Amino acid sequence: MKVFLFALLTLSFVFFSHADELSDSQKEYIKNHGAVKVCVDPDWYPFERINEKGQHEGIAADLLRLAAKNAGLQLEIVPTRDWDESLAFAQTGRCEILSFLNSTPERDTWLNFTEPVFTDVNVFVTREEHRYIPDPAELTDETIVFPSGTAMEELIRKDYPNLRVLNCGSEREAFEMVSTKKADMTMRSLIMAAFTIKEEGLFNLKISGQLPNYTNKLRIGVVKSEPALAEILNFGVSKITPSDRESIVNKHIYIKAQTGIDYKPVVIILLVFCFTGIAAGLWIVSIRRLNRELVRISQIDHLTGISNRTRLDFIFMQELDRAKRYKRELSIVLLDIDYFKRINDEFGHLAGDRVLIEFVHAASESIRTTDFIGRWGGEEFLVICPETGVEQAQILAERIRISVKNRQFSTGHEHTVSIGVASFGEGDTADSMLLRADAAMYEAKNSGRDRVCVK
Ligand code: GH3
Ligand code: MG
Ligand code: MG
Repeated sequence: MKVFLFALLTLSFVFFSHADELSDSQKEYIKNHGAVKVCVDPDWYPFERINEKGQHEGIAADLLRLAAKNAGLQLEIVPTRDWDESLAFAQTGRCEILSFLNSTPERDTWLNFTEPVFTDVNVFVTREEHRYIPDPAELTDETIVFPSGTAMEELIRKDYPNLRVLNCGSEREAFEMVSTKKADMTMRSLIMAAFTIKEEGLFNLKISGQLPNYTNKLRIGVVKSEPALAEILNFGVSKITPSDRESIVNKHIYIKAQTGIDYKPVVIILLVFCFTGIAAGLWIVSIRRLNRELVRISQIDHLTGISNRTRLDFIFMQELDRAKRYKRELSIVLLDIDYFKRINDEFGHLAGDRVLIEFVHAASESIRTTDFIGRWGGEEFLVICPETGVEQAQILAERIRISVKNRQFSTGHEHTVSIGVASFGEGDTADSMLLRADAAMYEAKNSGRDRVCVK
């Protein structure tokens, strides 16, 4: 929500009771007088400036036009180079009024003032690192810069001689001199400070304090030679309402102030959270999938698709534990394809791979669903047979041998397998059982291959 600077300032407007109408003599004066010659500060936006088209614009311009309209006066802007020239023009009678200025003892000697048209506080503007200024009298060896000819300079010189006053050409230059360390501080209107810091991006500046008595009571100054004009303009000023002032200030400057909760960052944070949550969720799902895949890959022989040695080891240890603890039967059957090297040599390695796959099909068809078959390595396979005694294991092994022998292999040749069987006995370990199965298998090899031996 936008709350305008106007509402942030401790603005106070003084209202005076005035006559509801101008007197006949005043009306007569207006009729005879013609356009009122006005000098302004050509470079003091947002208060006032002369724009590229030579028009007077800003808060002061709008307030002055409104006061003049209320009084029925015509205005004529007398162009000047700068504020100093405007002051000089007014002093030498080349213009009759100054649009927007504080009254000072010096100015009181040659100007009449209307009641305040606009009020705002003056603040000390320093660089970020400067400490808060509770009392400027305590500052030693510090410089303060003012655009030349300002009322604040007059007051500071009088009240705080401890501060070394520097001058510059414009409002903007005063802020820039502080920003670039050419001066320690300036004292300007809060409206001007807020506007210039924001417009010029001088974000190393801050407001370091204010002096309650140093309030800008900006008025229209009228040369002493035209006392009636001051009265008439005062009438026009008295008709300006607080809402007129508020809309004029809002037109030229506003500051976004936060009231209540600004939901925008909350929504952004929630969106970021949702987005991160969804991304994390998807990431976790994909990590889990990858993990499952990793587990599968780590336990499966990629050529034949059956369990690899890692998985066989695990299952064998489990079944062995069970057999020992519950005194159950357990057998293992070790299979080694006969003369496998010759297959590779004669038909090539790919044909050898195909024979391995076909061999697995033949063996798997011959085992029970409770048996586990896996690749032990190369052309050797192991079948773990829980709840199986030596005779049954022997029968199973024989079934596998015949199934392999009768298989139509893609090589067009008969291939055989030599098988060693070992069954769990008192005091057996995995190694001792495997040693016996291996010895039995070698016995089968040595006794002519294509046979089953038991140890
Ligand atoms: P034996 O009857 O005494 O067992 O003779 P063999 O030729 O089967 O035994 P050997 O140990 O001499 O040869 C086994 C061969 O198996 C050697 C190796 O190149 C081959 N082999 C091992 N793994 C694979 C595989 O994944 N694919 C193929 N194509 N060949 C393999
Ligand atoms: Mg071998
Ligand atoms: Mg072999």
